[in-house]
Amino acid sequence: MKAVIIGAGLGGLLAGAKLSKAGYEVEVFERLPFIGGRFANLDYKGFKLSTGALHMIPHGSRGTLAQMLREVGAQVNIIDSNPMAIIRKDNGENIEFHDFRNELSLTKRVKLGTILAYSLKFKPQSDISFRDWVLKYFDDDFLLKLADSFCGWALSLKAEDVPAREMLEIIENMYLYKGSGVPLGGCGAVTGALADVIRAGGGKIHTGSCVDKIIIDCGRAKGVRLNGKTVDCDLVISDIGHQETSMMYNCMDKGYLKKINTVKPSKGVKICLCAHEPLIGHSGVYFTPFAERINGINEVTHADPSLAPPGKHLVMSHQAVLSDNLEEEIKLGLSDLKSLFPDKKYEVLMIQSYSGKWPVNRASSGSDTGNTTPVGDLYVVGDGAKGKGGIEVEGVALGVRNVMKELGVSG
Ligand SMILES: Cc1cc2nc3c(=O)[nH]c(=O)nc-3n(C[C@H](O)[C@H](O)[C@H](O)COP(=O)(O)OP(=O)(O)OC[C@H]3O[C@@H](n4cnc5c(N)ncnc54)[C@H](O)[C@@H]3O)c2cc1C
Repeated sequence: MKAVIIGAGLGGLLAGAKLSKAGYEVEVFERLPFIGGRFANLDYKGFKLSTGALHMIPHGSRGTLAQMLREVGAQVNIIDSNPMAIIRKDNGENIEFHDFRNELSLTKRVKLGTILAYSLKFKPQSDISFRDWVLKYFDDDFLLKLADSFCGWALSLKAEDVPAREMLEIIENMYLYKGSGVPLGGCGAVTGALADVIRAGGGKIHTGSCVDKIIIDCGRAKGVRLNGKTVDCDLVISDIGHQETSMMYNCMDKGYLKKINTVKPSKGVKICLCAHEPLIGHSGVYFTPFAERINGINEVTHADPSLAPPGKHLVMSHQAVLSDNLEEEIKLGLSDLKSLFPDKKYEVLMIQSYSGKWPVNRASSGSDTGNTTPVGDLYVVGDGAKGKGGIEVEGVALGVRNVMKELGVSG
């Protein structure tokens, strides 16, 4: 059996590695000159920056991605963050993430325990947003700001744009798998290790190779076309989202097209700093619910000093983009950093913005439409087809897991 993968992002490479281990002949086509998509390293002034991600795996060494990396034998070492996360309060004081309950009145604390236990068991089936869900039960300014900070950092969305049912799936996964971790060598080490697995299994990865057509015969995917050539196969896995995939063949399924065309990507801005001294002082997430724009910050060099030159720290802030004025959004982000670290020595290394076809998430969380398509032997993986409750690359891994189940490829 031969599988063709369109796109060498994390989703495509993880699917390729799983299929390679299951005995498929795998051929991956990537239009860019490098592999990894938005999970690749960018070497800059001795720092390992990235094409997208903040070098963090949302559930560290315990989550679905880590499990799948182990299953395929990818050589990746994930350092779990400690502490998991810290919250900066309005008065500048820092508290452990788990202690956020202490900021609530006793009545609200008791109510939170009861409501959360009930809602995790019976998730709301309506489209109520996470913000409205918080408002309905608590109407608490600190909780609302924390919800926006978490959703902005992890999903590049405001809490009002995340369905409560998806957020409750995420909370459930956080109880199950805990907090984030940093892969040694950054995100490029993860995609690089997956590419090694594919090549070791005899698979091929072609960069600079843009697929422009998917060939369908009798309702089944039979190959792809690129550079005027046809590549035959038994299975096509697309890592470029449902919408772009559907444009590569004559998709006639109106119901499917309607569903996938409502999906919106999420937008974000990342500011990378060279710090001459620690700014936050730990490897976990620093949530900033009271900043104007910045939702959170990390300092990954506490987990992996090799991501910066000796004696320096790599610090990255992330913010969801809230308006169409990108310049203003960036200005507000930079001004947040000034107020958060007034006396610290740092320089801005790079500011990156993500939207449209190079977004933070191809399908904003809660709007994913599954991995199947109207065509047999054609599946979509990646952050346009995440599994339920999966934050970013954990969602990508859950989606790949779903496809492998459909194909009968076991763990
Ligand atoms: C600012 C930012 C911060 C983030 N931080 C984190 C984080 O810390 N942790 C985390 O878990 N996630 C994070 N994410 C999200 C994470 O980066 C993505 O979820 C993940 O990289 C998506 O992988 P993918 O395989 O779905 O897509 P991609 O990485 O986009 O891969 C798709 C690939 O397909 C290629 N392609 C497109 N069209 C074609 C074609 N026609 N032919 C051949 N190839 C094609 C593209 O060039 C690309 O390489 C972040 C994202 C951003 C932008």
